[in-house]
Amino acid sequence: MDLVNGNIQYGQFVLTMLGEIKRSLALKEVTLLKRDDWKQHVFIEASTESGLDNHILNFEKLYTDMERAAGKSYFYNDHPFPELQEYQAILPLKEKAGITGLVAVKEETAGSLSGIGPEAVELLARECTTLLETAFNLNKVVLEEKRYKQLFKVTEKFHSSMSMDAVLEEIIKTLMEVYPSFIYYLMLSHDNNNHENLPIKDLEYDSENAAAMQAFVTGTVQFEDSVPAKRSVLYAPLKGKQGVYGVLQVITPNSLVFPENEVEFISLLANTAGSALENAQLYQQSKKLISDLQLINETSHRLNSNLRLSETMSYMREQIVKSFNASEIGFIFLLPNGEVKPLTGSSAFFQTKEAEQYIRYSKKKIDIDKESLFIGDLTLQKMDGKMRFRSLMAVPMIQSNSMRGFAVVLQEEPYYFSFEMFKLLQSLIHHSSLALANSMLREELEKMVITDHLTGLYSRSYLDEKILQSMDDDEEGTFILIDIDDFKKVNDTYGHQVGDEILVQVADLIHGNIRESDIGARWGGEELAIYLPRLSLQVGVSIAQRLLEKVSELSNPKVTISCGVSYWKKDRTDDAKALFKRADEALYLAKNTGKNRVEVLN
Ligand code: GH3
Ligand code: MG
Ligand code: MG
Repeated sequence: MDLVNGNIQYGQFVLTMLGEIKRSLALKEVTLLKRDDWKQHVFIEASTESGLDNHILNFEKLYTDMERAAGKSYFYNDHPFPELQEYQAILPLKEKAGITGLVAVKEETAGSLSGIGPEAVELLARECTTLLETAFNLNKVVLEEKRYKQLFKVTEKFHSSMSMDAVLEEIIKTLMEVYPSFIYYLMLSHDNNNHENLPIKDLEYDSENAAAMQAFVTGTVQFEDSVPAKRSVLYAPLKGKQGVYGVLQVITPNSLVFPENEVEFISLLANTAGSALENAQLYQQSKKLISDLQLINETSHRLNSNLRLSETMSYMREQIVKSFNASEIGFIFLLPNGEVKPLTGSSAFFQTKEAEQYIRYSKKKIDIDKESLFIGDLTLQKMDGKMRFRSLMAVPMIQSNSMRGFAVVLQEEPYYFSFEMFKLLQSLIHHSSLALANSMLREELEKMVITDHLTGLYSRSYLDEKILQSMDDDEEGTFILIDIDDFKKVNDTYGHQVGDEILVQVADLIHGNIRESDIGARWGGEELAIYLPRLSLQVGVSIAQRLLEKVSELSNPKVTISCGVSYWKKDRTDDAKALFKRADEALYLAKNTGKNRVEVLN
C-alpha cells in the first residue's frame, strides 16, 4: 500500500491475504463476502476461487441474516447461514457499526480445521478482521479524501463564480463524477431563465412533489424510498444563509437506501451550492440595484435640466421601454375639470379610442385605492371589451400632495412585469414627479394663458384659433390690424415704461369699443389686432375709424394709430393667412400715406 500517494491496491491486498490463509491452512477455498448498504445485499468481494470473483449473488436474505453473527467470533461446522452451507467455517468481520462481512472457508478435507484448535481459529478470525478492517478503512479514508478534495475544488469554483448558471452546472458535473450511475435534477422554485443543458425541473407545490416541497420548506434532507420500484430518491435543499434556493433531487436506480456518509456528502455539496447560489443571487441583485439607481439618477438629472414637456416625456418613455420592455406607455394628465389628457410623449396608442378603457380603468382604481396598480392579468378584472394588453402597471404622479396624473405601462403578455420592475417604475415616477409637474404646468400654462399679461388682450394664438373657428362656422368676418404710429419716438422720448402705459391705454380703448364676442388681441410688440366675427366690412371699417379717433383724442401722451382692414366671406376661397396678409398690406399702405388713417384691402 502506497499511502503517501494514496495508491492502495485494496483488491489485490485482500486477495493476497485470502490466498495466504488458504495456503497456510491447506484449505480449498477462502471467500470474503461483504455487505452492500446501498443495495442491501451481500456480494463477494474477493475469493481464492477465481470464478466467484465479484460475482453478485442474490444474497439479499444474507444481508439481514448476517446480524446472527453478532456476539460470535467464529462458526465451525454449525452456522446459521443456510445460503453458505457449502462452507464449513465462517469468520464474521466486525466493526463498530456492526457486521460488515464474512470470511467463508471451505476445507480441502473434512475436519481438517478442527486440528488447529479453537484458540487458533479465533485468533485467525480476529487477525483477519483487524487486517481487513485496517485495509478497508485505509481505503475508505483515501477515497473519502479524494471525494472531499473534489468537494473542496467545487467549493472553490462555486465561490469564484458569480453566475447562478455556472454554480448549477458545477453541482451536476461534480455529482456525475462522484456517482455516475445516479440521476440528478435541480428543482428550482422560480426559475425564469433557460439553462439549456441543465436538468432543471420546476419546483411546484403538488402532491407528487411532497418530499421535494418538504425539503424546500424545512431545509432538511428528505428521502423517498420505493422498495417495489427498487428506487431511492434523495432531496437535498440548496440552502444558503438567508433561504432555500431550490432542491437537488438524486435518484438511485437499483438501490434501496442511501448510506449515511453518502447522504452527508450530498448534503454538504447541496449546502455549499446553496451558499454559492445565494452569493450569486445577491451579487446579481446588487448589480441590478446599482443599474436601477443609475437609471433613476440619470433620469432625474435629465428631467431637471429644463426640457420641454414633450422631450421630458419622450425621454421617460424611452427609459421605460428600455428597462421594462413595455409595449405602450402613457403619461396621463388630469385636467382641473377632472378630464384626462394623454400628454405628448406617450406612445401613439394612447391617442386611440382603444386606450380609453385602460386609462379609465387605471384612473378609477387609483382614485379609489390611492396607490399604484400592479395587474398581472387584466382579463381577470371583469372589464368589458377585449383586452389586448393583459399586464398593467400604473403609478400616480403626485406633487404637493395632489395627484397631477399617472403613468400607465402596458404589455400584451400576462404576468409580464416582475415586482422588482414595479418597484423600479414607482421609483422612477416618484423621482420625476416634480420635474414632470413643473414642465407640465409650464406648458399647460403656456397653452392655457390666452390673455396677454401687459395689455389684458387675448394672445395671438388664441386669436388665431378663434379666426380659424369663425371661418369654419360663420358667413363673414372683418380683421383689423393696428400699429401705433412712431412708437419708437414715444419710447425714446418718455422711456419704455410710458411706452407700455400707452400700449395699455390703446388696449383699453379697444376693449371699450368692441363687443364681448369680438376679439381684441396683442398681435406682437406694439401691434394690436381686432377680429370681428360675422361683421361686414363696412361695420368693421367704421369700428376701426372710431377707434382711431378715440386713440388720438384720449391717449396721453398723445399717440395716433394706423389700421389695416381686411375682410372674408364664405363663398370666396380664402384663408386666415391671406386675411392677415391683406390687413398687413393695408396697414403698410396707411403708414405710407401719412399714418393715423384706416386703409382697406378686402
Ligand atoms: P411706425 O409709425 O412706422 O409704426 O413707427 P414705429 O416707431 O412705431 O416703428 P415700428 O412699428 O417698426 O416699431 C415699434 C417699436 O415699438 C419698436 C419697439 O421698440 C417698440 N415696442 C414694441 N413692443 C413694445 C412694448 O411692448 N412696449 C414698449 N414700450 N415698446 C414696444
Ligand atoms: Mg410696428
Ligand atoms: Mg409703430
